[in-house]
Amino acid sequence: MSGIYIHIPFCKQACHYCDFHFSTQLGKKEAMVQTIAKEMVLRKSEVEDEVETIYFGGGTPSVLSNKEIEFLIQTVYDNYIVIDHPEITLEANPDDLVSSRAQSRSLFLDYKNVGINRLSIGIQSFFDEDLKLMNRAHNAGEAEQCIKEAKQYFDNITIDLIYGIPGMDNERWKSNIQRALDFGLPHISSYALTVEPRTALKKFIEKGVVPDVDDEQAQEQFHILVDMLAEQGFVNYEISNFGKPGFFSKNNTAYWLGKKYLGVGPSAHSFDGKNRGWNIRNNPTYIKKINEGILPIEVEALSQSDRYNEAVMTGLRTVWGVSLEKIEKEFGLTYLDYLNQQAQKYVEQGLLQLVDGKLLTTKKGKFLADGIASDLFFVD
Ligand code: SF4
Repeated sequence: MSGIYIHIPFCKQACHYCDFHFSTQLGKKEAMVQTIAKEMVLRKSEVEDEVETIYFGGGTPSVLSNKEIEFLIQTVYDNYIVIDHPEITLEANPDDLVSSRAQSRSLFLDYKNVGINRLSIGIQSFFDEDLKLMNRAHNAGEAEQCIKEAKQYFDNITIDLIYGIPGMDNERWKSNIQRALDFGLPHISSYALTVEPRTALKKFIEKGVVPDVDDEQAQEQFHILVDMLAEQGFVNYEISNFGKPGFFSKNNTAYWLGKKYLGVGPSAHSFDGKNRGWNIRNNPTYIKKINEGILPIEVEALSQSDRYNEAVMTGLRTVWGVSLEKIEKEFGLTYLDYLNQQAQKYVEQGLLQLVDGKLLTTKKGKFLADGIASDLFFVD
């Protein structure tokens, strides 16, 4: 079982907090689409298993025309073995989805007709103050409008929401969650606003133009989110992901469970079960190299400790936890003993718990999962 991730490295404008790989120069879009298709052809021997999921991420995949999306999906089918009814997700931004009512209608139908069956919409907030601060390309009205429209065509919709935004108090955060719930969506992803180096947000905070993010408030808002969504029957199956049963992201779940995936496009990552690879984060070089038949990819073979560390990190972030039996089977007693010993203090502090042979975060420990996991890492 495999997944294919397609990175579309273009955005209409740069959000102030973002450190993903994208360019706002859309002039090379057509050449990029052709090149990504070439990469899929060049790498077809890397995927022997059936492809279960296709995921358009970015950047902003909704800047692609429907013809371009169709061409890339067709390239997957032409070069890989794809199961019947794969999950095909498209990340989309509200401003691309609501240009006009008639256009939106044909856009959603076009998406469906080329095989997209899951829409991931980058809402982030339903309030203009937050959207402006983050320099999102859409406004609050467009955020609401595009969900209303999308719901007429798609059942499987997820939206992204950001918490911990400077100036967004808990009441506004609750209203944001409530608006999302009022739409009756089956899935919500939610992330804390993080201040990454070399972003506009970082500079604004340093200059005092924007207040710094408040970790305590982010933690409070995470707990508000967990409680409000649990009440409505959402499962917090990964720290940032909440789904109704039957609507968990198959693509992301496969990734967290350590399954293989092929990532194409600049900056895309891949995992073949043993090695991780990542493509160059530079659009012109990516296009040049692929068209010369050279894969601009760096590959790192994962050591046993790397694989153990990843199993601990992803396990603690998910509802499936870290299986002690699996740790012993895959890595041996040395790693199991180390894990038990390191985890002890967190169990005593009520941040981790052992349930049916699996190490899981408690409700109190969930927000701290990454920090706890790094303390359980095995360093050679
Ligand atoms: S639209 Fe997404 S990828 Fe593009 S700049 Fe904004 S957050 Fe980053």
